[in-house]
Amino acid sequence: MPYVLPKSGHVRLHRMWAFAIHAADLTYSEHIHVLYCDDCRTALGVCLQAETFGAVLKTLNREDDTHHRDDDDQSKAG
Ligand SMILES: [Zn+2]
Repeated sequence: MPYVLPKSGHVRLHRMWAFAIHAADLTYSEHIHVLYCDDCRTALGVCLQAETFGAVLKTLNREDDTHHRDDDDQSKAG
């Protein structure tokens, strides 16, 4: 089954973090994307040097993209 990149078009940070700490391997598609994407290569470099995932997010000035934004669901409730 081919791996589909997220809507943002980039490899998820937590995937690269998992790769950096040897918790998981990247898929073939992810590897290829990282090779050709400056943003993701920079992010992976940060992952490889950071001590925690929080430090990665801070360095890249990004929010944790593992969380979904559920604002729409809340407005529907009730
Ligand atoms: Zn990318």
